[in-house]
Amino acid sequence: MALLQISEPGKSTNPHEHRLAAGIDLGTTNSLVATVRSGSPAVLVDEEGESLLPSVVRYRADAQPQVGRLAVAAAVEDPHNTIASAKRMIGRTTSELKTLHEVLPYRFDNELAKIPRILTADGPRSAIEVSAEILSELKKRAESSLGGELTGVVITVPAYFDDAQRQATKDAARLAGLTVMRLLNEPTAAAVAYGLDQGSEGKYAIYDLGGGTFDISILHLHEGVFEVLSTAGDSALGGDDMDRLIAEWILERCPCELSGNDSEATFLRQLMLVARETKEALTTQESAEVEIDMPGGEKWHTQLDKTTLDSIIDPIIDKSLLPCRRVLRDAGITQDDLDGVVLVGGSTRVPRVRERVETFFRCEAYADVDPDSVVAIGAAIQADILAGNRPADDMLLLDVIPLSLGLEIMGGMVEKIIPRNSTIPVGKAQEFTTYKDGQTAMSIHVVQGERELVTDCRSLARFELRGIPPMAAGSGRVQVSFKVDADGLLSVSAREMTTGVQADVTIKPSYGLTDAEVEQMLRDSIDYAEEDMHARMLAEQRVDADRTIEALVSALEADGEAFLDEEERDRLTAAIDSLRTLREGHDADAIKQSVEALNALSEPFAARRMNAGIHSALAGHNINEFGE
Ligand code: ADP
Ligand code: MG
Repeated sequence: MALLQISEPGKSTNPHEHRLAAGIDLGTTNSLVATVRSGSPAVLVDEEGESLLPSVVRYRADAQPQVGRLAVAAAVEDPHNTIASAKRMIGRTTSELKTLHEVLPYRFDNELAKIPRILTADGPRSAIEVSAEILSELKKRAESSLGGELTGVVITVPAYFDDAQRQATKDAARLAGLTVMRLLNEPTAAAVAYGLDQGSEGKYAIYDLGGGTFDISILHLHEGVFEVLSTAGDSALGGDDMDRLIAEWILERCPCELSGNDSEATFLRQLMLVARETKEALTTQESAEVEIDMPGGEKWHTQLDKTTLDSIIDPIIDKSLLPCRRVLRDAGITQDDLDGVVLVGGSTRVPRVRERVETFFRCEAYADVDPDSVVAIGAAIQADILAGNRPADDMLLLDVIPLSLGLEIMGGMVEKIIPRNSTIPVGKAQEFTTYKDGQTAMSIHVVQGERELVTDCRSLARFELRGIPPMAAGSGRVQVSFKVDADGLLSVSAREMTTGVQADVTIKPSYGLTDAEVEQMLRDSIDYAEEDMHARMLAEQRVDADRTIEALVSALEADGEAFLDEEERDRLTAAIDSLRTLREGHDADAIKQSVEALNALSEPFAARRMNAGIHSALAGHNINEFGE
């Protein structure tokens, strides 16, 4: 296929003016910002000299949100208001998040049908807003270290991100006040960081194992341009899974009983942190000390050595090799056709990962650029080109679309218009005919996915073409055109060929925020309208109510029979039921009073359990709620 050079809008008219541009790696676990200064790319650090910004935001009732390490530090004590992994949720609808809901420790507001929001002490927040906080922090960092306002940024996204997720990422940037010049696929950015687009010829695999996601791509470089041949991955595989397996390994050995209450969540979170620290220590050491604060307060120690770690994490590496086989097959090549493999993501620092990836691909890994920064560096180089700071003959990159785009046809079937792995930008058109005699309108349903049935694909948009002149079935000819721009965003138009009537839609995915909604969010965050205050109070009271109910229900299950007589139990159960009913309403004060009443009523129960010295009593968190 002939590859075209893309001419970019927004190139500097004055070649001597240097525009401040930055590349941002908005990661699931960590985010970074980089820029090109005096011709060489570098990651920007914060006041403490740290380059990685943990992608974690903590919302507080009457203060600015905390972003990064401060938020991470608070995660154990304030899990419900401390939001990590927003990238997993961005661009997803409530129903798509159903399965995630069960594993994430947040409380979701499901009333707003389309954009799921997490209830925090500062009101409901969507993944877009959480990401916007992270982006704002990076913007601040960049502008203070560059000493001026950013003209534009390149933000990287996983190659498998669909239209909705890409659009949502752009929305987050807009909320943060950033101008996005381009969304760039992460593997492509990594290849750019290694300069593989500068004269190298050949095929490369980009293996990206981060905190919670795995991404593998095959890139083909030829004649100075390069093309993404295929992409695959696993959106639920990464260093976090290693941490989980290590935590399980520790749990099997440490003499602790799990009690199933809130303090257990705190204990498990600690366990995960210790597991991660141990894993990271073993990247440079042969053996590491594990120290755990037990639920009872005492400390417990053990050792973990590298060989044992390797055997613990091997299943995760095995799992990553399945998509690796798939991309080779999709690209129609074998390992022997590869010229190299590029390692990306913090988890590729684990020596066992590198070793097994090299064995699998039968070639040496590129690992000179810090695997944490490589994506941000590549994005910075692209940003520099797009801002017009480079000579015009520098080539731009070509990516592929990760999922096929198509239309619903009769019988709930999908007709693919643009197949997956097509190089973007791309445009294709196809003709359809009317189905019924005298049909004057045609309903166009745009879907994304590989499956045959519409119900198995993701719905992107629906629109109607009206004003078709009445004709016999089959004689109205409607041409539907699909166009995907360089960011991977789709627009669709339909045109009746005999009359020329036309309808267009730029795909705002079904969850998508309208400009007005984004503006609204911006305004809301600036001036606290009265309803906002009320909504926030209501959300807070609901969170409080849920927490109280949950703790009491589990306490009743565990010890209700032992410490309460039937009448006492009935009274508590009735009080819980009435709080549950109030919680569904909109009266924040009533919920608050009911929570207080329930706390007072359950006080003797809490006291009896405490006195009995039961290990699983209303410890930690719950003492505050029931003992006050
Ligand atoms: P993401 O792309 O998901 O934001 P990163 O590329 O920043 O993630 O990778 C984060 C992961 O890398 C975490 O699981 C972290 O534990 C792991 N990691 C970071 N440094 C090391 C290290 N020295 N050894 C092993 N794992 C590491
Ligand atoms: Mg990453």
